Amino acid sequence: MNNLNKTLHAARFAAEKHTGHFRKGSRREPYINHPIEVANLIANVGLVDDEDILSAALLHDTVEDCGVTGDEINEKFGETVASYVLEVTDDKSLPKHQRKQLQIEHAPHLSYGAKVIKLADKISNVRDVIASPAEDWDKQRRVEYVQWAVNVVSGLRGANDQLDGLFDEVVAMANDKLAELD
Ligand code: ZN
Repeated sequence: MNNLNKTLHAARFAAEKHTGHFRKGSRREPYINHPIEVANLIANVGLVDDEDILSAALLHDTVEDCGVTGDEINEKFGETVASYVLEVTDDKSLPKHQRKQLQIEHAPHLSYGAKVIKLADKISNVRDVIASPAEDWDKQRRVEYVQWAVNVVSGLRGANDQLDGLFDEVVAMANDKLAELD
């Protein structure tokens, strides 16, 4: 398979697996918009053209949210893609607060590819918390989410300057918006 074919195959596979899923936010966007945004940020802001990283970006939530296994990704997309996806997959058998703490602790130890994916993921999620917040998320919960994302990203810094810069801009915008709410 050439590079683009692999990435498109990953997009198709992720779209099929996320069928019927929606983002938590008030816009009720189809879930697949999120992995597409993550891959697009990596390619067009981060200027990364590694097909394994872009494919893994498209697939990054399929193990955590769709019951896909690492073995299935390995078979279809190879070992490197599977390892990136597994690196950014939380262990759902753990309680939520522990999963969130582990993301902060693991961030500095991730591979380059996984760091870039996690960074773009946090950009996409912080944007959504502001542009399309979940209806049951009050201001406090949104403030806490943004602060947690900042803590995770502090362990990812240096992997990609353009994505670091965009994250800082998105957080500044989020904090302005949140300060307006009262
Ligand atoms: Zn995600």
